[in-house]
Amino acid sequence: MPKLTVRREIQNLAAYVPGLSIAEIQQKYHLSQVIKMASNENPLGTSPLVQEAIARHAAEAFRYPQGGNPRLTSALAVRHGVDARRIVVGNGSDEIIDLCIRVLAEPGQHNMVCFEPCFSIYPIQAHICGVEIRRQPLRDDFSFDFVQLLTHVDNNTRLVFVTMPDNPSGYCPPLVEIESLARTLAMQFPHCLLVVDEAYMDFSTNEAATSLLASGHMPDNVAVTRTFSKSFGLAGLRLGYAVLPGELAEYLWRARLPFSVNILAEEAALAAFNDTAFYEATLSAVAVGRKKLQDGLTNLGCTVWPSAANFLMFRLPEGGPAAHVCFEYLLTHGIIIRPLKSYGLPQHLRVSVGTMQENQAFLDALAQCLAEQSVHGEDV
Ligand SMILES: *Cc1c(COP(=O)(O)O)cnc(C)c1O
Repeated sequence: MPKLTVRREIQNLAAYVPGLSIAEIQQKYHLSQVIKMASNENPLGTSPLVQEAIARHAAEAFRYPQGGNPRLTSALAVRHGVDARRIVVGNGSDEIIDLCIRVLAEPGQHNMVCFEPCFSIYPIQAHICGVEIRRQPLRDDFSFDFVQLLTHVDNNTRLVFVTMPDNPSGYCPPLVEIESLARTLAMQFPHCLLVVDEAYMDFSTNEAATSLLASGHMPDNVAVTRTFSKSFGLAGLRLGYAVLPGELAEYLWRARLPFSVNILAEEAALAAFNDTAFYEATLSAVAVGRKKLQDGLTNLGCTVWPSAANFLMFRLPEGGPAAHVCFEYLLTHGIIIRPLKSYGLPQHLRVSVGTMQENQAFLDALAQCLAEQSVHGEDV
């Protein structure tokens, strides 16, 4: 027998908890139809033009992609008005997040700082890399206290992560606050990179006034990450990117696995950029659906946090069922949402904006759940 030993960081790793899949719920509860509103995917699915592009390029699957994905980086450079040499593309923005940590932080020596709760990939990848992670709790209303965040930063801090709009709350800080954070970091901690994760930024009502990337004035110490997984509907193809300080981008390319963005993902992304009608329809479906869910949840007595993203975080009414009971109830009725226990929020739930029908089905099932639970409550 071999005696394999695994690094301590991996032995006690609490791995990423993904949303449940449609197939596993169909099987478990013997359902013919399941609605998934758990992973913030695109409510309109995959653009038809993207599907055509994937089909058209299917025969090229035997080829390696061109090194550096130059067509894609050029298209991204044009879209965001930046030098193509500042762009790195990856197997989801998850890969870019991981690369930033691996390239900048020395294991056992450096640290990184983020909020608590936050997108779980940051602490998980930090842990795997052996990099200390320092967390600043969010305010009670889930807004960001950047003054307190800065108290965790010292000369060994190599990265600060901020998600805007935030996951799981949907909160988006004012642009001036993130600009001021970047300035303070630049002055006091010149070795520290501020990573702003804008995965959901295009869902905000006024992207131009909210996004650091769209502002056209990205500070020198900032990287902005974006993804094709949400507004462009390509989560399954795994494609994300970052705009970085130029010299840093070059190091990320060196450290990146050579072909992590595959041929079909690249073609799909280029086609997705061309399908502006689908993109606009997505943004509008999300804006309308978000309002409908916000109103519907509020009418049911839930507490709903304002969201600039394509999901809503909410709590059930006082005296209603526990969050996990409601989550299970919805599952048995063929609707998957996201419990937030893995974010340290056992009483909160998150629902992704779906199609009009899906939003209605979710609200109906939730109303039924609350009604049945309160009947039970009166019985005892
Ligand atoms: C969904 C999400 C991403 C995107 O991840 P991909 O790897 O690009 O699919 C990044 N950051 C946050 C906060 C997210 O919720």
